[in-house]
Parts: sequence; structure tokens; C-alpha cells
Amino acid sequence: MIARVLIDGPSELVFDYAIPPDLPVEAGCRVRIPIRQKTSSGTVLSVIPPPEQSQFAMREVQSLIEPEPLITPILLKVARWISDYYGSSIESVIRSILPEAVRTEDNSAKTRRIATACENPDPAEIEKLVKRAPRQHAILTLLLATENRTLPTTDLGEGSAATLKSLATKGLIKISTEEIRRNPEAAEEIIPSTPLTLNNQQQEAFEAINASLANLSEPQPPFLLLGVTGSGKTEVYLQSAQAALDLDKTVLVLVPEIALTPQTVRRFKARFSHLTDQVAVLHSNLSQGERFDEWHRIRKGTARIVIGARSAVFAPLPDLGLIIIDEEHESTYKQENIPRYQARDVAVLRAAFEPCAIVLGSATPSLESWQNTLSGKYKVLRLDKRADAHSMPLVRVIDMRLEKQKQKGQVAILSDRLRTALEQRLEKGEQSILFLNRRGFARSLQCHSCGYVCECPHCAVALTYHRTDERLVCHVCGHQSIVPRKCPECKNPGIAFQGYGTQKVEEVLQKVLPEARFARIDADAMRRKNALKDILKKFKSNKIDILIGTQMIAKGLHFPNVTLVGILNADLGLHIPDFRAGERTFQLITQVAGRAGRGELEGEVIVQTYTPHSPSIQFARKHDFDGYAEQEMEMRRQFSFPPFAHCGVLTARSTHERRAEFTLQTLHLRLKENLPPGITLGEVLPSPLIRSHDQFRFQITLRSHKARPLSKHVQAILQKTSLPEDVIVVFDMDAYNFS
Ligand code: ADP
Ligand code: ZN
Repeated sequence: MIARVLIDGPSELVFDYAIPPDLPVEAGCRVRIPIRQKTSSGTVLSVIPPPEQSQFAMREVQSLIEPEPLITPILLKVARWISDYYGSSIESVIRSILPEAVRTEDNSAKTRRIATACENPDPAEIEKLVKRAPRQHAILTLLLATENRTLPTTDLGEGSAATLKSLATKGLIKISTEEIRRNPEAAEEIIPSTPLTLNNQQQEAFEAINASLANLSEPQPPFLLLGVTGSGKTEVYLQSAQAALDLDKTVLVLVPEIALTPQTVRRFKARFSHLTDQVAVLHSNLSQGERFDEWHRIRKGTARIVIGARSAVFAPLPDLGLIIIDEEHESTYKQENIPRYQARDVAVLRAAFEPCAIVLGSATPSLESWQNTLSGKYKVLRLDKRADAHSMPLVRVIDMRLEKQKQKGQVAILSDRLRTALEQRLEKGEQSILFLNRRGFARSLQCHSCGYVCECPHCAVALTYHRTDERLVCHVCGHQSIVPRKCPECKNPGIAFQGYGTQKVEEVLQKVLPEARFARIDADAMRRKNALKDILKKFKSNKIDILIGTQMIAKGLHFPNVTLVGILNADLGLHIPDFRAGERTFQLITQVAGRAGRGELEGEVIVQTYTPHSPSIQFARKHDFDGYAEQEMEMRRQFSFPPFAHCGVLTARSTHERRAEFTLQTLHLRLKENLPPGITLGEVLPSPLIRSHDQFRFQITLRSHKARPLSKHVQAILQKTSLPEDVIVVFDMDAYNFS
């Protein structure tokens, strides 16, 4: 037989090698192979029959790096599907499944020598040592007094090798090698938690998931756990995970972003703290060695619960019983770089292949998942009330157009109502969260006289003023420049700020509530390591009164003393050219509002907006997902947008504007020839972000009720067309980003 091998390294080479008769090479194995004069390493993609007749003597696989395949047949199948569906090369997908740290042999497991005293040594023997060999006696006594009678040899003092050897010869101790785990979580303190008694709806949901777990010999329909914020979804996840473990199965938990969901991660750790070594958390900031160890602990089945973000969907868990996807609507599940994929959809596919049970949870499900429940593909499980019997927070909508008139045309940042509410919370010693989806001090710098706006020289966006370092910063490419004192265009000194950001809010608060203690959470403030953790800890222990933040604080945070949430400019996200703008705004407001009143105290939410009647705001105000979904779905159906069609975006970019546009026009012509039925081909248009990182961008949007024909057609045309070297063309299937 022949092994088709993907060679390690950036060049994505695939070569065939003959398999020597005595070498058990399977698909998914890591192998050493000869390339020219050298030995290289690679991954076996498939094992295939030899060609009928071949002119060349094929070179042979030299050896196996690991005795067993590192990629399971199911993950290989998943890889092929991703490559096919999203048009990513199989090489790029395999690279995500086998992370760099695992492919590099230098990271292999660390071992150490340990000494173990024998059980019940003869007291006479010990007595003899006291005089003749006091060092041996000291070491033996130390070991006997230690738990398991074992210590690493390095803990037994310098130059103890000879002493240990003598003890071993006498049969008093045994020296052996032990694998040590580089444990990234070692320093963390966790308080164990016990299961809560489930309420009726939680119990129903739990039983449905349990029934699925009991019936894994057949593929089970995915569950959509639709529960309002604070309804106890996490408790259902925890008990379902336990049920899967009880069946000797493993559990995969996906969260939108590890750093932004510290509380969810802690709750899993707390519930399964008695299984210390069985929980693995896959952070993006693990060292290569840690990643290597965690990966192998997972593959061997030692770690039985894996928590991670998007790429953890490839975690090599054996005997997978349950996949949980928390906040399934989050766009972070979409990978925007190569290989492009949507981790939620890949997880659903993996669950079908395994087969295992899968639960997608959210208070504001994506309309894609919602449509799947309406069509009967997914089963919905509902939690309609908050678990702790408290009511949902009261949401007030403030019309900022009126507020602007009151404040004589000035941009109002805090309405009277919100300011009063903040004062009341301060008096009562309760906490508040202020949410603004924009970092920086002010949005942009604009000349009042000629209208000139300071823009990024590389991207078609206005620069944002950052007060702390007195700079204008591009939020697309990071370009920084100094703040001009007068208009660069007409030299008028009347250049002023438009809009505002989190830093400006901080400044206003300092003025109106000088006695309040506040902290800011946004990407700028969080550049320091552990900054987020530190602030959340302080907030939890009531050392901060008001937390100001961007969407970084919208997810999964639970602070019982927060009774007020203010959303400063709720319509910021509404006016971008993206059909999901309304859906995102609804999700964001509902999620942020859900941070209020999560303890004994009742919560209040104040939403400031310039478009108080927009459905996103009105339905979020009533916590009404069904109502929102119904009216939004009607619109999507009418215009054939997802979830009623699949939508792919073909983008061309180049430093040469004309060449980018021309390339896309050529592709448009070819796509149009023999266009399969059912596909709507859009025109070549400039992207909303027409210039970014010095490159001009154009795009074509394609839509189709069936995904496969669309994906296939575009890929076939891309393969047949040779592109100019200085134009980059990208196809994004099921796109989430239309800028
Ligand atoms: P969600 O994940 O849906 O936002 P959580 O799981 O965070 O909700 O639950 C909100 C709060 O309710 C938490 O403090 C949790 O401990 C509590 N809770 C959940 N289930 C129960 C229950 N069955 N009985 C009492 N309290 C519960
Ligand atoms: Zn820029």
C-alpha cells in the first residue's frame, strides 16, 4: 500500500511513499520520510492502493514518529469536509487539527527521576544505616515520611546520586522515571461546587439530553438550549457533562473566547475539581510545551473534559459523548483566517460523525440555529425564567434626540435619567456597568470649517483619538499619528471631536460623579497581562463602583451586586452595511442587559438610543427573542438572506485599485458562464471598507438555497483562473463579515 503524506513545513507539499511490509502505517499517523537527501516528518492523509504500473521506484516511509495515529478517522473525515465545503486546503485544516506544538518533536513530554521507598523496610536495616551511612538514613527517613513514599530525586539534595544508588542496591528504595505534566492551571485556587437541585424546566432539558446520551449508537438531533440570561443554562451543561462522564464518555465545551468568559471556565473547574487532572483548558496563551502536554493528555483520554474556544472543536478526545457550545450565536466561532470555518457548524457535523450528543446554548440564538429548530432539524429546550426566581431586569429606553435638545445640541453622553440612576446606586453601595461599543476617547477629528476628517492613510476609516497617549489610532491596521492642532487641510484651528469612546465616558464620569470608583475594560486598557482578571476580581469584591466597557464585558459575567446596566449608544451597530446588523444589536443589548439583577437585588437597564423604535431595541427591551426572530425572519425570507439562503463573499484586494477590480470582473464573467440553477450572482462592488492596509478591496456576494453547488462552483472557477500575482482573492463561504 501507499501512504499519501503531507510534509511538515510551510510549503504544503503532498508526496506518496511506499509502506514497508512490517510498518503499521494508517491514515492519521505521523511519519518520518525521505525528501531528497534529508529526512523530514509528515502526516499520513490517506493510505491508498499502489498505482497499477509505475515507472519510478517509490521511496519508502522510514519510520513512525508515534506508534499510533494522532488524528482519528473521524477528525480526518471532518478535515475533508471542511476542505470541501469552505474551500480551504486540506493541509491548512490538518495544521489546525495537529497544532504546531504537537508536530514539533522538541516539545515531547518531560520526564523526571523519582525515588520511592519500599513498603515496611526492616527496622534493623534502618538502624544499621544510622551510624554507617547517615546520609542514606536521612533520605530514607524523608521518603518514608512523605506521601506515597516518593520524591523527585532533585528534591533529595545535590550529589545524592551515589547515595540513592546504594539505597537502591540494598533494595530499600526504587528509582524510576515519571512523566511530568506542565500544568498551566497549577497555581489557581478553585472552590469546589456541588450540583444544584434543578427546577422543572432545567430538569426537562437535562432529561432530554440524558436520553440522547443513553442512545448514542444512533445519531441524535442537536439540542438548542434557549434560556434567558440567568436561567441556569450553565447548571444544565454541568449536570449533562457529569452524566456523560458517568457513562465513561468525554466532554467538549466550546466558549466564545477563554479570556472573556473566565466565570464559565471557573464554574466547570469548580464542579469537576475532584477530577483535577481530567479537566483541560485550551488557552491561546499556553506555551508550546503546555500545549503539547495538554493535547496528549486529551488524546490519551486522561483529560476527559476539554474547555476551549473555536479551535478546540478539533480536540482529539476519544469516546466523545457530549459537545456543549455556549453562546452559540457569537461570531467568534467563525474563523476568519485560513482555514476558514464556522466552529459551531463543524461541531454539529463532528457530533453526527462520532456520533455524540450536542447542545447549543444561548439567550439569543443565531437565526441559523433558530431556523434549524423550526424546520425540525434541531430540538429546542427552553428555560423561560431566571433560575433564582428573580424577575428579568426592567429595561427603559431613553430617546437621546430629546436629550440632545435639552443639552442645547451638545452630544449627550449621560442622560439625566442614567445619571440619577448611577447616583442612586452609589448611595446604596450597589454596582453599575456602563456599556459602550467603541474604544478610544472620541470617534474622529473633524474640521468644523471645511469638513475635513482625519483618516488613516492606509485604510478608508476615520482615525480614533486616544487620550492616554495623545494619539490618533486606526482601529483597522493600528496606524498611529499625532493629533493635529489645526486642520491639515484649511489650517483652521477649529478642528474638533465627533462622537465619543470609552475614555471620554471615563472623563465625563469623573466630572459628574467625582466620588465614584471606576475602571475601564476595553482592548486598550487590557493590553497588560492579567489586567482583565485583576479588574474583574476588584469588581467582584466591591472595590469598584462602576465598570465601563466595550463588548468585552457583554459575555457571561455574573456579578450579584450589579443592579444597573447603562447602554450608552445602543444604535452604534445598527447603521453598518450588513444584513446581520439588527440581529447583532438585538443580541448585544439582550446580553448586556442580562448582566443586571443577577443576585438578590432587582436590576434596571437603561438603553440610550437615537432610534428608539427600531425592532432590535424594542424586542430586546421586552427580552422577547421569539418576537424579534419572527419579524427579522420575515425580512430575511423576503430578501433571500441567511438562514433562508447560504451566502458566500468573493473578495479581491490589491494595492492596484484597477487590477483588483478587473480581476474580480473577470471572475464574475466566468462565474456567470454555466451558472448552476438556484445561485444568485451579485455584481462587482467596492467593499464597504474600500481600502485597508493600503489595499483596495472589491467584492461579489453570491447566494444560494443549497450550499454545496455554490461552494463547488466558486472553487472550480478559482482553480481554473490564473490570478495576477499582486491580487489576493479570498472566498468566504457562509460569511459573517461583509466589510
Ligand atoms: P445562564 O447560564 O443561563 O446565564 P446561570 O447558569 O449563570 O445562567 O445561572 C444564573 C444563576 O442561577 C447562577 O447564580 C446559578 O448558580 C443559579 N442557579 C442555576 N440553577 C439553579 C437552580 N436549579 N437552583 C438555584 N439556583 C440556580
Ligand atoms: Zn489603517
